[in-house]
Amino acid sequence: MEINSFADFVGQERIKDYFADAAKNGRAGHAYILSGMKGSGRKTLARLFGASLLCTSKEEIPCGICRSCKMVMSGNHPDLITVPHEKPATISVEDIRDHLVSDILIKPYYKGRKVYIIPDCEMMTPQAQNALLKSIEEPPSYAVTILITDNLSFLLPTVRSRCTCLSTVPLPDGVVKDYLIKNEGAGEKEASVCAAFSGGSIGTAARFLHSDTFREDLDKTLKLIKRSKELPSNEIFAFAKEAASDKTGLLQILDIILYLYRDILMFKTQEGRASLTFIDETGYIESKARQTDYDEIGRVIKSIEELKGRLRSNANAEAGLDVLLLDISEPVIKI
Ligand SMILES: [Zn+2]
Repeated sequence: MEINSFADFVGQERIKDYFADAAKNGRAGHAYILSGMKGSGRKTLARLFGASLLCTSKEEIPCGICRSCKMVMSGNHPDLITVPHEKPATISVEDIRDHLVSDILIKPYYKGRKVYIIPDCEMMTPQAQNALLKSIEEPPSYAVTILITDNLSFLLPTVRSRCTCLSTVPLPDGVVKDYLIKNEGAGEKEASVCAAFSGGSIGTAARFLHSDTFREDLDKTLKLIKRSKELPSNEIFAFAKEAASDKTGLLQILDIILYLYRDILMFKTQEGRASLTFIDETGYIESKARQTDYDEIGRVIKSIEELKGRLRSNANAEAGLDVLLLDISEPVIKI
């Protein structure tokens, strides 16, 4: 969905109010850092703020219909500059000099404002950050710079101290779910799963919704877990081996098992009144909740958390997933 006004943007009320007020009352500062996780709408918020500073309407800004707003939305406004970089994972001192430090001295084409956006600004080298300092400390009065990052700690204290820092917050699952249903055409069940996995980010949830890999992983993992008691161990080993070949995919699979066990725990604790992530699997969750005691559920959840921790520190993850899956599949033998 095209987002052309603050009202169209879901969530992040504090930042929207702040930007809308600053633009409306001519109180915009010279430099901002917009931090928060990927997919939380930071770039859209920066673009909307830029659009409101450049908008020519006397009414609600950004209006979304004036010539300036149209140019911003199509990415063609000469006074809204997204700083590019030559190398894929680095923003160099040359990038900053060429596209910001020297450009900022050229007066705006239109309304008297010039807005610079630096996405992924944690990729700036220390030299690039130092080159930026003067432009954010004593810029021409018309210039506003917005730095976007998911990792504030990569920015030098000298850069941070010269900027107003705003941070996006994770949204409640219910808000993400509603958004997916209303704006992305998702069904209730898939919206619920994608929202749970998104960590409170609409962008991430939408990516899951449209990702075939995520659906495949989800489908395969749930099938395997549900049938694990009857599967021969070589099939379980084969699954674990394939999963271990891709670390991101493996973490996703572990999260799927984790959410399934959380559902089982919720079902058991709340006697079926829980709002489940995997609504489609209610039958399985119910029977599993009946058969499994709290200790066993707790043990599986703890094993997954430990395995995720080990995976992050690069240990041999394949062996870990083997053990976990066998553990889930083994009926508890009581002597
Ligand atoms: Zn406008």
